[in-house]
Order: sequence, then structure tokens, then C-alpha cells
Amino acid sequence: MTVAWILKQKGRNVISAMPDTLVGHAVSLLERHNIGAVVVVDEQNRVQGIVSERDIVRILATEGPGALVEPVAGHMTRNVVVCTEHHSIDWLMEQMTMRRFRHIPVAENGRLAGIVSIGDVVKHKLAMAESEAAQMRQYIAAG
Ligand code: AMP
Repeated sequence: MTVAWILKQKGRNVISAMPDTLVGHAVSLLERHNIGAVVVVDEQNRVQGIVSERDIVRILATEGPGALVEPVAGHMTRNVVVCTEHHSIDWLMEQMTMRRFRHIPVAENGRLAGIVSIGDVVKHKLAMAESEAAQMRQYIAAG
């Protein structure tokens, strides 16, 4: 099963921001859209970085509230691991587990084309397990 399957269910909309967006505005985006990360892109929609809830906690703990009026460019994670819609969901799980992050943006031809969170992966895995269990029950009932 690939990333394309998850995108088909959830859509390709991604909340993104430009590098000059203020950290405080990124916080508002996280709250307003009830999400865990904002992807930072340039004018061509190419991924430049990512700012997640965990970054906000780190920024506030290490630099204090003054950082809220600074651009995200100075605070975001720059080496973003991205995937394409052809990557397998198992590959995503492996990356998220090994590298300890919960978001992987999807890029197509270098442009942002979706995002998969750990919540999307868990939802998918649960649906798969439920469908397998239902098939098994049917098989047993059929004798
Ligand atoms: P998260 O678990 O997604 O809230 O992120 C934890 C840390 O990993 C934060 O510093 C994020 O900026 C960073 N991070 C999140 N997603 C990615 C990603 N796909 N590639 C690289 N770093 C990431």
C-alpha cells in the first residue's frame, strides 16, 4: 500500500507558510487548523523547512516569547525528509519511528503535493486490521 492511497482518502491540502512568516503566526496556523506542523515553502511551492509543535516548545523554552515575532526561517528544521506518492506506508512508518518525527510532506516534481502524519498512518493501519479481521470472521463463519 502506498502514500497515494492515503492521499486519496484525506486529500492533498497542506497548510504551508513562507520563510518570512513570523513564528507567532505559525502558532496561530497550528491552532486554527488543528494540525501538528506547518510546511515552509518558497514561491515555487518547493519545501524549504518544517515547523512542528515540538519546534514551538523548543523555541519558547530556549529563546522565550521574543522569538514569536521572528521569521520561521531562523527556527525551522531545514533538512526535511519528504516522500513521493509511490513510497510505501511501511517505509513512512519506519522513517517516523527511526527519526522520531510525526510528519512527512509529499513532494511531486520538487513541489509540495500533500502531507502524511503519524495519525494518518495509524488510521490506515487500523482500517487494514479491521478489514482483515472481518475477512477472517467471514471465512470461519463460512466453515
Ligand atoms: P514532529 O514529531 O513531526 O512534531 O517533529 C519533531 C521534530 O522533527 C521537529 O523538530 C520537526 O521540525 C522535525 N520534523 C518533523 N517532520 C520532519 C520531516 N519530515 N523531516 C525532517 N524533520 C522533521
